[in-house]
Amino acid sequence: MGIVDEDIVAVRGATDIVGVITQYTQLRRVGTRWVGLCPFHAEKTPSFNVNQELGLYRCWGCQVRGDAITFIREVEHLDFVAAVELLAGRAGITLRYSDQGEGEGRKRRARLVDAVSKAVDWYHERLLSAPDAATARGYLRERGLSGDEVRAFKVGWAPDAWDTMVKALRLPDDVVRDTGLGFLNRGGRQTDAFRGRILFPIFDANGDAVGFGGRVMPGGEGPKYKNTPETVLYQKSKLLYALNWSKARIVTDDRAIICEGYTDVIGFARAGLPAAVATCGTALTEEHVRLLRFPAQWDPKLGIHVT
Ligand code: ZN
Repeated sequence: MGIVDEDIVAVRGATDIVGVITQYTQLRRVGTRWVGLCPFHAEKTPSFNVNQELGLYRCWGCQVRGDAITFIREVEHLDFVAAVELLAGRAGITLRYSDQGEGEGRKRRARLVDAVSKAVDWYHERLLSAPDAATARGYLRERGLSGDEVRAFKVGWAPDAWDTMVKALRLPDDVVRDTGLGFLNRGGRQTDAFRGRILFPIFDANGDAVGFGGRVMPGGEGPKYKNTPETVLYQKSKLLYALNWSKARIVTDDRAIICEGYTDVIGFARAGLPAAVATCGTALTEEHVRLLRFPAQWDPKLGIHVT
């Protein structure tokens, strides 16, 4: 089950492999081929070859080879369907799925992810510029987070109010509920799930926004940490905070650093160790370990270093 074969062929046909690869490494024309430094291994003399006409690449140094889809899978650490979707987006092709249910499921998921990413941006903007976020900004500075780090990790601020975010984003009731961004109160009015909290957005390994970890301000109400409730997108036993940013480095380093908290991950990145992830308010599960060991075409020898 997956994308209709015809559409995969169309995506391959519409994709210029040289255009795709030059976003990751510089290529130079040599006769009928294009050559450059391999994006998959460190080298000083180019051994990475691209045949534009056939749409294929090959590295004589580390022996990787494939087409544009393989390239995107390897370089972005995506599964086959996600890689085809990325290239289809680039080419402006609308994909059809061989299983109607799967197509609907993906559409539904895309709608929810879109809502969560809008909330990520909204909360982030709020932290950067709203007057009511001044205390939160001061608190983060005190904890040693620079403005650049706040931006890189898209940290946000949920105002201490009932429905500021849902009012601003105007999402349908079912999307508010199914993303866990909010809920419907007894009167049927949309209400924000997070209030008066610093928010750390959580993305899945493919980089889709799926939820938040919210930390209360000192002296604030409720538990210290509150996360998005379990949803179709957010299943904490299967998510690792920052894996979307750290995965490439984890593969190169052949090591992952697993922390307890969001700010620990940011601290490791500051210390030049951007291969850190954190569990999202839960103990390390077998699913987490599997996520680190067996995401699509990761090195199965990947060692895990627990700190
Ligand atoms: Zn190579």
